[in-house]
Amino acid sequence: MTKAIYAGSFDPFTLGHLDIVNRSSKMFDEVIVALGTNTSKKSLFTADEKLEMIQEVIDEYSNDNVKVIQFTDGLIVNLAKKLDAKVMLRGLRSVADMEYEMNIASMNKTQAPEIESVFLMADEKYRFVSSSLIKEIAQFDGDVSGMVPENIAKRMKEKYYTM
Ligand code: ADP
Repeated sequence: MTKAIYAGSFDPFTLGHLDIVNRSSKMFDEVIVALGTNTSKKSLFTADEKLEMIQEVIDEYSNDNVKVIQFTDGLIVNLAKKLDAKVMLRGLRSVADMEYEMNIASMNKTQAPEIESVFLMADEKYRFVSSSLIKEIAQFDGDVSGMVPENIAKRMKEKYYTM
């Protein structure tokens, strides 16, 4: 049984992320979406809000072999070891992503050589979809449908316009 972990800060979870989850759920026995905190990025949503939103999306659009968890501290490789996951999934949108991801993958290899990083290329439709760009658009009341699931678009509106 091959378990894969797809970790990210998911602030917010986009249709690009969902696409990676759903494609990989057909390749692995179990996919664990691990919501973490990226210490170098300021977050719009709290971890609890994100967890709830992602769970709603996964319940509605993903296979039963996808699970959502939150991890608060420690290295993702240690979480992978604890859960006995042999694969760490990442998505690649661009050469810039690749540069960044290769560094992370190499560092992870030094910590856990038995765990493989597996990269899926972003779907054409979502190549330009990024959480940070979506936040900028939503902040100025732009249209983010087609980039995030509906429940998340709604939450973003609430967040920016009830603050
Ligand atoms: P982190 O803050 O840990 O980089 P993100 O939530 O930004 O987490 O992204 C998680 C993973 O999803 C990364 O591998 C990223 O490259 C990938 N990703 C982000 N947006 C997309 C997209 N539109 N299509 C495919 N993969 C994506």
